[in-house]
Amino acid sequence: MDYTKPLPSVNADNEHFWKGCSRHELRFQKCRQCGFVRWPASFICPECHSTDAKLITASGKGKIYSFVVYHVAYHPGFKDDLPYVVALVELDEGPRFLSNIVGCDSNAVACDIPVEIAWDDIADEWSLPKFRTLA
Ligand SMILES: [Zn+2]
Repeated sequence: MDYTKPLPSVNADNEHFWKGCSRHELRFQKCRQCGFVRWPASFICPECHSTDAKLITASGKGKIYSFVVYHVAYHPGFKDDLPYVVALVELDEGPRFLSNIVGCDSNAVACDIPVEIAWDDIADEWSLPKFRTLA
């Protein structure tokens, strides 16, 4: 494997999420008591403290809530990507999800632009959920 960037840290709470990503499914926990769709994954609902949740597969659509453009690589694995966009994407299902905006000039990125999922298959069992603009 010649992927040189850090990999996500998998634990019991988020294992379902990363397994879903490997199948190109964006899975989130949805509280069976109050309906809150949560991210990051957690044992209890931050809204009502219920532990009763089900998994949903998100549409992969949303809009850019906020973003920054990195012009400095703080990890050597990112230096060939400069400049790159890190954005907080507000998904249609509710969660705000930190990711990258890919496939466009960083100068074209703005808040409220609609986006859709763009899977980055970095290794056999790893796909990272990134986003591309629809505008
Ligand atoms: Zn809840």
